Amino acid sequence: MTSIATLGSHCALQVLKGAKDEGLKTLLVCEKKRESLYRRFSFIDELILVDSFSEVIEQKCQSTLEQNNAVIIPHGTLIAQMSSEEIESIKTPIFGNKWILRWESDREMKEKLMREANLPVPKPVTTPSEIDKLVIVKRQGAAGGKGYFMAANEEDYNTKRNQLVSEGTISSDETLYIQEYAAGVLAYLQFFYSPLKQELEFFGVDQRHESDIEGLARIPSEQQLKSKKVPSFNVIGNSPLVLRESLLDEVYKMGDSFVEAAKRLVKPGMNGPFCIEGVYDENAKFTAFEFSARIVAGTNIYMDGSPYYSLLYDEPMSMGKRIAREVKIASEHNQLDKVTT
Ligand code: AMP
Repeated sequence: MTSIATLGSHCALQVLKGAKDEGLKTLLVCEKKRESLYRRFSFIDELILVDSFSEVIEQKCQSTLEQNNAVIIPHGTLIAQMSSEEIESIKTPIFGNKWILRWESDREMKEKLMREANLPVPKPVTTPSEIDKLVIVKRQGAAGGKGYFMAANEEDYNTKRNQLVSEGTISSDETLYIQEYAAGVLAYLQFFYSPLKQELEFFGVDQRHESDIEGLARIPSEQQLKSKKVPSFNVIGNSPLVLRESLLDEVYKMGDSFVEAAKRLVKPGMNGPFCIEGVYDENAKFTAFEFSARIVAGTNIYMDGSPYYSLLYDEPMSMGKRIAREVKIASEHNQLDKVTT
């Protein structure tokens, strides 16, 4: 019997509840400091207690997962806390495509895949001296927006970067990625591609609430100007959004073309959940500044099913449950190799 395992953070509750609803055994790799939190939830069958998540690649943890025929569901914490090499070295089957996670973490590879998918990406800026309009400066990997900053020119860039280095938020040898700032309504488009059905499903949309950039809008401009703090984009939570129906056709086309591009560049392709992240401008034109090649925490707002999934399923269907269903069907048909790497 296949079981579902994940790391205790990010969207673990949703993933394991979905797995339990599908009748699968659930395992949580849990840091000891979070044990009391996760013990509150009866749908978690077994906790594998660790001091740090990096123990996932150690023999002890791997053999418990193996004994349970576990499939690991990767999420943002796995990517944020482990290197691509470490993730790729995990022996336990990983849901989706573990090779594409490197394309999410590495900014250059990320841009290449987004271009291959013909997504409308913001212009990258190669050096600070080229900054001639508002840009956002990002760190590598899934840092969750912490330490990001905006700059209007080279001098502004240097002042803010130096301030963040001296505060210890970013390190002095860190390679930063500069991108044109796209203004508009944030929309994080959540999809699921089923390698079994070879079909793309649109799950939902969320918005991220980021501190303290959002806090800035709540204070008068004189105070904003006086503040010496560099505002960050640290994600605090998410809220739901539905799109104008006239935008949906383009949403599906972007999803399809991302799936096709991933098949070409990183086999076996974009299997399972993913998210295209961007903004709609005043002409409803979308600019995609990011993708996540695995479940995003923004799906947590739809633990009881999303508006768009209620059009596809006649039962409450969360993203966690959708993943578990794919694993269950694959396992029943001896096709786990089609949905894992
Ligand atoms: P990311 O790590 O790329 O998802 O970025 C974190 C946050 O920074 C996003 O949720 C947005 O609020 C903001 N952001 C990132 N890139 C851009 C961009 N090119 N234009 C406007 N806002 C952006």
